[in-house]
Amino acid sequence: MRWMLPLLLTVTALGAYDFALTPKRITPEVTCFFGEPAVMNTTNNGNMVNTCYIDTKKSYVVIDSGSSYAYANSAYQAMQKIKALPVELVINTHVHDDHWLGNGFFAQMGVKVLGSDDFVHNASIDSPSRIQTHISPEAYAMTVPTRPTEMINSDKTLKIGDQELQLHLMKKKAHSAKDMVIFLPKSKTLFTGDLVFNDRVPSLVGGDINGWIDALDELKKLKATTIIGGHGYRTDKKAAEMTYNYLTDMRSQVRAAIADGISIDDTVAKVTMPQYKSLKMYETLHRGNVEASYRMLEWE
Ligand SMILES: [Zn+2]
Repeated sequence: MRWMLPLLLTVTALGAYDFALTPKRITPEVTCFFGEPAVMNTTNNGNMVNTCYIDTKKSYVVIDSGSSYAYANSAYQAMQKIKALPVELVINTHVHDDHWLGNGFFAQMGVKVLGSDDFVHNASIDSPSRIQTHISPEAYAMTVPTRPTEMINSDKTLKIGDQELQLHLMKKKAHSAKDMVIFLPKSKTLFTGDLVFNDRVPSLVGGDINGWIDALDELKKLKATTIIGGHGYRTDKKAAEMTYNYLTDMRSQVRAAIADGISIDDTVAKVTMPQYKSLKMYETLHRGNVEASYRMLEWE
């Protein structure tokens, strides 16, 4: 009966919650998992974020590890079925926990995790995490909030396999205090993290509308032909436009309201931007975004 022990252990490890994630090939070297454009809840269990794998021929580089151990495990298993390559590096775009709570899955395999030094100041490793309070215990099981093993405070270029990866840190607070983007010059592919949203309203709370617009202006210089955001399905060269238009439109309307001496409450009631009403999460996020913009812009 001794042979049964390893077998049972294997079955237990495989018994982690299965997200049944569907990989989507974006370019010959990039495959992504697209989450639902929604808040994290017990239906999507945190599968509401985008994560990607870059095939460098010798290994995978993972862009964002996702919202839990089980999510990271599901994505990893799906990629191994496509091509069995080891993961060499995980890169975290920013500190919001839906993007990096899968780090523990990779860290236990000894994989290096790289993020900005904002993780020292603004990544919450408290328990329960925000994700933990919104998804089912089964989906969250085995998740250990794990900061990057290397935290950088300036731009960096990496050569891994046949790919060059340019890591750019945004100079000012934008969607978060320090957003990182990853650019593959060979294929002009840009991973923006949450500087780009599609199919849902962006979240500005905790960010800075001016810094965010400046960041998107800066990213235009890269002339990326494939742009992959942190949420939403669009990945063509115009994928940043919805976020850019939403933010610039909001800024001009809120600035005008402030110039006219309109109060914050009246501005929130006035700046409804109806063309975005059909987007997911409009009801949850739009009013808060206007309010956050007002509080930033009134000090200009
Ligand atoms: Zn975010």
